[in-house]
This record gives sequence, structure tokens and C-alpha cells, in this order.
Amino acid sequence: MAAIQVDDLTKTFGDTTAVDGLSFSVEDGELFGLLGPNGAGKSTLINVLVTLLRPTSGSASVDGHDVVSETGAVRNSIGIVFQEPALDEELTGAENLHFHARLYGMDRADRERRVDEIFDLVGLSEERDDRVGTYSGGMKRRLEIGRGLLHEPSVLFLDEPTVGLDARTRRDTWEYIQRMNEEAGVSIVLTTHYIEEAEQLCDRVAVVDDGDIAAVDTPDALKESLGGDVVSLDADGSTADFRRRLDDCEWVSEYASSDAGIRVTVERGDARVADLVRLADDAGVAIRSVDIHRPNLETVFLSLTGATMAERESGTSEGSGTASDSGAGDERVGERAHLAATEDEA
Ligand code: ADP
Repeated sequence: MAAIQVDDLTKTFGDTTAVDGLSFSVEDGELFGLLGPNGAGKSTLINVLVTLLRPTSGSASVDGHDVVSETGAVRNSIGIVFQEPALDEELTGAENLHFHARLYGMDRADRERRVDEIFDLVGLSEERDDRVGTYSGGMKRRLEIGRGLLHEPSVLFLDEPTVGLDARTRRDTWEYIQRMNEEAGVSIVLTTHYIEEAEQLCDRVAVVDDGDIAAVDTPDALKESLGGDVVSLDADGSTADFRRRLDDCEWVSEYASSDAGIRVTVERGDARVADLVRLADDAGVAIRSVDIHRPNLETVFLSLTGATMAERESGTSEGSGTASDSGAGDERVGERAHLAATEDEA
């Protein structure tokens, strides 16, 4: 049985379609990421899955329970950690966990056992009797994540688990999340707008844009789908002849040209630089500089949606990206980002 099954799920708020006909599933034990810019619809989706919002149409189940008709069973099977901190800073770490365990109706023996286990799991046993107000940001996050696991849920939802943490603490937190996934055997669904977080932490990633899932796969498969490295060539003068020559190269997966030069996708960027410079030279184009970009999930997002995540968030139409067809690619990029901006404003 899948930990989560979502079929054609839609959630609208007035004229805004926050989640637009999504279908996907999360396997048991998976660490699954929803990656997308702010406003993509990730939190809305999570809120439907945790029964805080009712879907407008479509269906979803968590741990085999329907999120509309079996809300109680869904709530018993899940743990949730929201973006906003929700710890009592005046209480100690242990008092916070005990209070929460009581809310879940756990008896004293169970509470003692489970609270000990959680402190061990999140590496805070020594600080358990310190006031939470004295904890660092990373320690608070770990305690909150641990608290979400107190009642031994089968699925844990983490909404932007490392937002507001510095880079080092973020990495530490990833380790704890991974450990919980492995040691507690809990399926984890997290939302993030950090590329690296999705790439380093998740077994599979759904790329979410504008209420829709553009692709779901392992980070490696998503990157491989781009067809290789992107070689950016800063070219001088007209590149029309150069582009015609690129069209004839079977080792060129795709390319896009913009004011900044030409970006060519090839399987082994480092091995093809000399060929590309020679090709440009034959076409009478001088190359001022060359950069090789290994694919990451940011390039994947760009390739799937035609805009970078930052452009999506700021609503700007600027953007140069890899286009699946040659030549007019950048115009289409601009147009799509502009459309998104207009929809956001609507
Ligand atoms: P994300 O979590 O990816 O940042 P959200 O799910 O918060 O995205 O938002 C998706 C879209 O739905 C946005 O356009 C947002 O403004 C809109 N939205 C979210 N919640 C509400 C709400 N309660 N009422 C109206 N619009 C909402």
C-alpha cells in the first residue's frame, strides 16, 4: 500500500487555483520532496493531506485512509511539523514533549519510554531539562521534528523544515531527518524551495509549479533527463551560422541562445568544449568565455517550467534557459514567466 495516494486533486480559493489536478503517490518508507517556489501550492497540498483543508475535487488518501471521509484515522497516522515554531519556550524540552504526549492520550509508561527514545533520536538527551528558550534554532527544529514522531505516525509531514536556519544547521537537520526516516521507518513528505535540500535529502522529488507537478522522479533521474551538462558560451557577433552547425551535431542534445551567449546541452561537457570552440571558430564566432554547468534541480526546474524558481517568486519575466527546440526558445521562456506573473496578480 502506498503511504500517500493522490488522484486528480484540485483546491481553489475563489479565483485562485492553488492545486490543479495533481496525481502522484508516495511509497511506504520513502523520503519524498515537494520542490517549488513560494506560491507553487505546496502548503495547500500538505494542508489537504493533513485534513486541515478540504479538497475542491479529486481524492487523496494517507496510510490508506481517505482525507475527507476518514479524517480521524488520517490524523492518527500522521505527524506534522509546520513552518511556524510551536514550542513553549518557557518549558524544558522534556516538558514540551510530555505535554504533547499527554495530548495524544499516551499513558505514563509509554510517555517516559517514547520521550527518552525521541531525545536519543534527535540528539538532545543532554539538553532535555534545559528551557527551550535557551536552545539554538537548529535544536528547536530537531525537537519539533522529534515531537512530530512521538505517537509513532506512519507518515511525517515537514513544511519547509529548514527555513530560517543557517547553511550549517540546515545540513545537520538533514542528517536528523534522514536518520528518522531510516531508524524510525517513517515515510516523510517535505516541502522545500531549497534546491540542495531536495537534491541531497529526498529519495524522490516532485517539481511543483503553479499548482501542478511538472515531473516526479529521483533527483538523479530528473537531472539525467536534461540530457547532460550545459555549456555556456559567451559569443561575440552573429551566431546564426554557429547555430546551424549545432543543429547538425548529433551529440548536441539541445541549445538556447540569448543576449548572454549560447547554452548548449551535451552529454560530457568537459569533453566537448574543444569541439564547441572549434565549431564556433569555423562559423567565424569568437568565444570570450566558457562555463560548464553540471545539471542540478535548478536547471531541471528551468528546463521544465521555462523560468528559474527565483523568477517565479519575484514574478519577473526575465529568463534565459534551455529550450527543447532551438532558436526561439528564449522568447517562449519570457512569455511563460510573464503569464505566470499575470496569474499571480489575478
Ligand atoms: P507554497 O506553499 O508553494 O508557497 P501555497 O500553497 O501557500 O504555496 O499557495 C499557493 C497559491 O494559493 C498562492 O497563489 C497563494 O496565494 C494561494 N493561497 C494559499 N492559501 C490561500 C488562502 N487561504 N486563501 C486564498 N489564497 C490562498
